[in-house]
Amino acid sequence: MTELATRRPSAPAEADWSAAVAVIRELAPAGRVLLICHVNPDGDALGSMLGFALGLRQLGVTRMQATFPGVFDVPEPFAELPGVDLLVPEAEVWADPELVITFDAAAASRLGALADRLSRARGTVVLDHHASNAGFGGVNLVDPQAAATSVVAEELLARLGVPLDAAIAECLYVALATDTGSFKFDMTTPRVHEMAARLIATGLRPGEISRRTFDTRPFEAVKLFAEVLARAELDPAAAAGHGLVSTYVTQDDLARHGQRAYVMDALIDPVRTVAEADVAVLVKQIGEQTWAVSLRSKGAVDVSGVAVALGGGGHRLAAGYTGHGTPAEIVAAVRSLVPDHLLSPS
Ligand code: 5GP
Ligand code: MN
Repeated sequence: MTELATRRPSAPAEADWSAAVAVIRELAPAGRVLLICHVNPDGDALGSMLGFALGLRQLGVTRMQATFPGVFDVPEPFAELPGVDLLVPEAEVWADPELVITFDAAAASRLGALADRLSRARGTVVLDHHASNAGFGGVNLVDPQAAATSVVAEELLARLGVPLDAAIAECLYVALATDTGSFKFDMTTPRVHEMAARLIATGLRPGEISRRTFDTRPFEAVKLFAEVLARAELDPAAAAGHGLVSTYVTQDDLARHGQRAYVMDALIDPVRTVAEADVAVLVKQIGEQTWAVSLRSKGAVDVSGVAVALGGGGHRLAAGYTGHGTPAEIVAAVRSLVPDHLLSPS
């Protein structure tokens, strides 16, 4: 059975793939191509974008920028990804590219100030896997069944006739490993392992990539983790008795330990190991009263519903939003909404 035959109905239609190939073949060879991933980019955002960029480069595309909105701080775990030389800060992005391609952004708002490039371009293609993505591009390749946006990127590269090389594969592998929690989450399907096999077959060293991407941090970051975990609070009665664990990390914490903002993102992983809680909440300070909130569930709660209710989005078991106030107020807001988003009767 072909891969196409096994795909669920909500995957992009054949006409969408053809339209994406057509617009890229028409505009990319001569025009300026702008690739944008979501603000505060993670491994899937950067990996799918840079892997695709390297593929376009193989097709002979030379006028190309890859970028993301906001502060131009590439997280250290991704600083050595192939293709990082293509990254440019928001301020240097062309005002009117001919072709815009977006990666892992569920809505235009996730592109920040760069969202205006969508209306200025002659062609736009959206690559994503968030179920909430309503399709904000001219061509939309949104596959909610895909474990990562890099799954969509790999297929589009194949349809463009680009063979995988080790550099493309490394980017797509980091993306796939990031969004599957290193192949641990339920979305780790046979299709995911088949793709991983194709990527590893190019000569990748998964151990080295995993160590660099997920298992390496400065000593002072470890001390910071210890402090943040020590202040975690467990609320066993929350979420109709499924439990909620939360903690927060401030800009002052980062400064005291001399750490950059990206180190905060990995803190959700130890927090969500807590056995007594289905829901994990990490509140990360990004401004005076502004916080990036990460939500995770082990299966009892649809945290994307909670995030959407608070102005954000994401997936059923991993979501986020921008919150305001104090960490205690933010956790209280999440706690009060969780009972409305239980996935199974308690
Ligand atoms: P994380 O907690 O790792 O930052 O994000 C988890 C998931 O929630 C990702 O799928 C991410 O795209 C989504 N997400 C995180 N923050 C936001 C937000 O502010 N708005 C939206 N729409 N989605 C978010
Ligand atoms: Mn993703």
